Amino acid sequence: MVATAFPRRALVHGAGPTGALAALALADAGWAVCLHDPLQAGELCARSRAYAFNHSSRRLLQRLGLWDALAGCLVPFTALQLSDRVLAAGVAFGAADLNGASRRGGGGAVGWIARHAALMTVLLQRLADHPAVNLQLGAAFPSPEPPDLVVAADGPASPQRQALGIDLWHHPYRQSCLTAQVELRGLAAGQAWELFRAEGPFAVLPLGSGQAQLVWSAPTERCRQLEQLSAPAFLDRLAGVLPAGLEPDALLDQPRAFPVALLQARRLSRGRTVLVGESAHRCHPVGGQGLNLCWRDVAALHRLALRVSSGRLRPEQLPRRYGLQRWPDLILTLLSTDLLVRLFSNRSPLLLPLRRLALLLLARWAPLRRLCLGVMTEGPCRPW
Ligand SMILES: Cc1cc2nc3c(=O)[nH]c(=O)nc-3n(C[C@H](O)[C@H](O)[C@H](O)COP(=O)(O)OP(=O)(O)OC[C@H]3O[C@@H](n4cnc5c(N)ncnc54)[C@H](O)[C@@H]3O)c2cc1C
Repeated sequence: MVATAFPRRALVHGAGPTGALAALALADAGWAVCLHDPLQAGELCARSRAYAFNHSSRRLLQRLGLWDALAGCLVPFTALQLSDRVLAAGVAFGAADLNGASRRGGGGAVGWIARHAALMTVLLQRLADHPAVNLQLGAAFPSPEPPDLVVAADGPASPQRQALGIDLWHHPYRQSCLTAQVELRGLAAGQAWELFRAEGPFAVLPLGSGQAQLVWSAPTERCRQLEQLSAPAFLDRLAGVLPAGLEPDALLDQPRAFPVALLQARRLSRGRTVLVGESAHRCHPVGGQGLNLCWRDVAALHRLALRVSSGRLRPEQLPRRYGLQRWPDLILTLLSTDLLVRLFSNRSPLLLPLRRLALLLLARWAPLRRLCLGVMTEGPCRPW
């Protein structure tokens, strides 16, 4: 943590996973932070979701000294099976396909899965304990002194973004995404799956003890129907979709469908305000990039806040710098997830040879596998 005589002040709107981490990152950089969310702590933790984290998030958590505190709720996976169900072909990614730094820094894990409630409980506890953080949860919010920086981490509907008059590029997919937690028989420890099916991608993310989070993309109407099925009927449908060797035993929560869209704010800052996380962008859940991309916003904010604290950057320059630094990663990640969905969510005879070639090259050529896994786990701007 950096200590300065006159700490800069930041006001963070939104204590979801992005805003909570942004507040801790700014406090770590020596800033005094006020974090506000209209929801109470219990409501912030209550979502039944699980996130896939990659090495870019792992590096940020380690830099902020949060890795050990979160270790108990991060379930590592060491193998990722990517499978094209239309072509009946696939590729296995493992620790050998990680670059040296990722292999060493992450103990051979390809990625980690964490339940929302466990993650938020740790982050909110850290925020409550941090002397530089003023945590304001609930409707009443005493206006703080004018801050040097305002961070809008208030989600995809971002009232802050709207108040600043920042428009969006918005492309809704015809697919929705259904999430559910299930108990599976035959799930090997440390094994994750990404299946490309004609109706959309389908991920099986291990939560430990034979449990898994499913991220099931399909046409919106089908997701709605799946959401309304009884537990036995849902498990029946699921049995027809799972990879060979996996069988559903029990449904652990209520499946929830949500619309998926590609969303990008036309600018990332205005005046003293920066947009971080889903207030600025949203992508298709394929490849589990969403929250990692949000946390790379936080990583950029942390680096710039450190520069302000050490006098190497004027605070009024931070918002513009932040915008300039984030565009390449955002554009490349949004485009690559979009390309994956377009390429693999169909049976188009024109695209099948291209998919077959891509999978063949990936299966046969280790440097290409390393590059692809690098993009998935470090982001497109730092795959090596
Ligand atoms: C139904 C659903 C299920 C999902 N399931 C998964 C999943 O299983 N796995 C996965 O990886 N991703 C999932 N996602 C996506 C994931 O939730 C997002 O990537 C993640 O929540 C983004 O975090 P964030 O902090 O940027 O935004 P959010 O989590 O949306 O947080 C925004 C915060 O801002 C607060 N806020 C709103 N208005 C104001 C205001 N005026 N002032 C201050 N604060 C305000 C909100 O209360 C909220 O706490 C799901 C999304 C949805 C909608």
